Amino acid sequence: MSTDAHPHDDQPPVADDELSRRLRARGLRMTEQRAQVLETVRRLEHATPDQLSETLPDVDLATVYRTLELLEEIGLVRHTHLGHGPASYRPAEDDHIHVVCHSCGAVLDAPADLVDALARRLQSEQGFALDRAHFTVFGQCRNCQSSEPAPNASPALPPSASTPQGHSHGNKHSHEGDSH
Ligand SMILES: [Zn+2]
Ligand SMILES: [Zn+2]
Ligand SMILES: [Zn+2]
Repeated sequence: MSTDAHPHDDQPPVADDELSRRLRARGLRMTEQRAQVLETVRRLEHATPDQLSETLPDVDLATVYRTLELLEEIGLVRHTHLGHGPASYRPAEDDHIHVVCHSCGAVLDAPADLVDALARRLQSEQGFALDRAHFTVFGQCRNCQSSEPAPNASPALPPSASTPQGHSHGNKHSHEGDSH
């Protein structure tokens, strides 16, 4: 898509007023770059900083990072983790959880209320408030399941309980800066 016009999908129009209002409340100016980064996050869905920078040749990567941080601080975008790479950014108003296929990498959106029971129990039993927008569930999509040979051999012997990939789940990203 090469047009700068607002997308003709069902997203609400970019709330430039809201952006400038929230920036002003912090003593910051509305800039073209800030508006562009916000608009592009809304258009691309789940964009990484690199993808945003590629889409916006006028905005260098460092500015993209700084702007995303700012937009998250003022509550207009959220980040989420779809794998081991860089975080992805999405509009704050998109309330859904992500379901990622670890075979093909497909990212599906799922209704956030799927985790309501989990959220309620964590809150009532541990006083823990779930940040469900941060939430990614990994598994295998329908296509990848059907392309695998049927597991009809020795049902008495379950496959190894650990995931076959054996990749490290070391949390490389830092949440030190997360203010939420
Ligand atoms: Zn898949
Ligand atoms: Zn999403
Ligand atoms: Zn995070």
